[in-house]
Amino acid sequence: MKPPKNCPYCGNEVVLTSNKEIYGREFGNGRCYLCRTCGASVGVHGGKKGTRPLGILATKEMKVLKKACHDLFDPIWKSKKVNRGKLYRILASQLDINVEDCHFGHFEMDQLFQALKIMSVPNWWKAGETS
Ligand SMILES: [Zn+2]
Repeated sequence: MKPPKNCPYCGNEVVLTSNKEIYGREFGNGRCYLCRTCGASVGVHGGKKGTRPLGILATKEMKVLKKACHDLFDPIWKSKKVNRGKLYRILASQLDINVEDCHFGHFEMDQLFQALKIMSVPNWWKAGETS
């Protein structure tokens, strides 16, 4: 993913800055891309010199949805009923996307909603277990 220049939501400039601006203190490698106008942001890969964004710029709503997705997704592979890679493959096939694109941090609003809908069905992943 390329560093974002302009915010996809409000069109204003995106800056590479300290994530202290969002959280009040620095987390992880301490850096993020931030739109100071609407508050959309995304973290960056790597250490102090990293510039590669972790995903797409996310609004507050998208961050809430992303967390909700992880809250449904993570306990399944953490329970060891199915491994993480396989679970991503099952979800990708249900979303009809490539597994390489299947990361909650890369999803737009509509994909986040779609993923939530899929994962709110009990044992949703079992349907794809044999495929
Ligand atoms: Zn913005």
